[in-house]
Amino acid sequence: MYLRVLGCSGSIARDKRTTSFLLNQRVLVDAGTGVGDLDLDELLEIDDILLSHSHLDHVLGIALLADSVLQRRLSRERSGPIRVHGLPATLEALRRHIFNNVIWPDFTVLPTRERPIIELVPFEIGQLLQIADLKIEVLPASHTVPACGFAVATAAGWWVYTGDTGPNPALWEALRGRPLAQLVIEAAFSDDDRALAEVSRHLCPSLLIQELSHLDGDTIVAFTHVKPGEMAAVTGQIAAAGLGMPITALQRGDTFEF
Ligand SMILES: [Zn+2]
Ligand SMILES: [Zn+2]
Repeated sequence: MYLRVLGCSGSIARDKRTTSFLLNQRVLVDAGTGVGDLDLDELLEIDDILLSHSHLDHVLGIALLADSVLQRRLSRERSGPIRVHGLPATLEALRRHIFNNVIWPDFTVLPTRERPIIELVPFEIGQLLQIADLKIEVLPASHTVPACGFAVATAAGWWVYTGDTGPNPALWEALRGRPLAQLVIEAAFSDDDRALAEVSRHLCPSLLIQELSHLDGDTIVAFTHVKPGEMAAVTGQIAAAGLGMPITALQRGDTFEF
């Protein structure tokens, strides 16, 4: 599996993009502002988008992507709609609050009801999906809105993305005993903002370290979703914990082959 990190920041600033991962050139996991770094030809190749939850920093790219590729994609014989996969509550939020003909046109019925550019496809926690040539499992998450993470089967083990989440015992239960190629886990705030992390159901270094105690010491870990301006504090606080496992900050533009 080829992974390209389009965005992994908790919000925007110069050179920061919000969460989006491109898998095998065809599948997006979350559609934050990082999607905007793809050129038009690359945008045209995206057939499936998996969403971890409904928050704007993870979904706003869908609306603009649909607009960018509509004419060119539908003029190609082989192209059907872009399938947007999410929990039922996530898809309902998109319908009600984005594709509502107020914030944005309803691309689930445009340009025609018979041949729309966007199709919404529900999944459930624990479901095993076959998306393009990828086997993807929907993992539990614990956030302020219904949310999930994903595990993608690769030749090197599972690539796991936690999504936005606070402490999440159900995740560690689901992952127990599995070989992991890489764990991408959120660390949105520094420990100075632990109270904010707790109320917004995110992690900070002290919470992250408790979470990682569920894993083998040789698991390769990358943290993501750090708020702009917090990277030095988060990195320093994680390093100070002396975890004894390989852990680095995910960077926009990183590529991995698993
Ligand atoms: Zn969120
Ligand atoms: Zn987020």
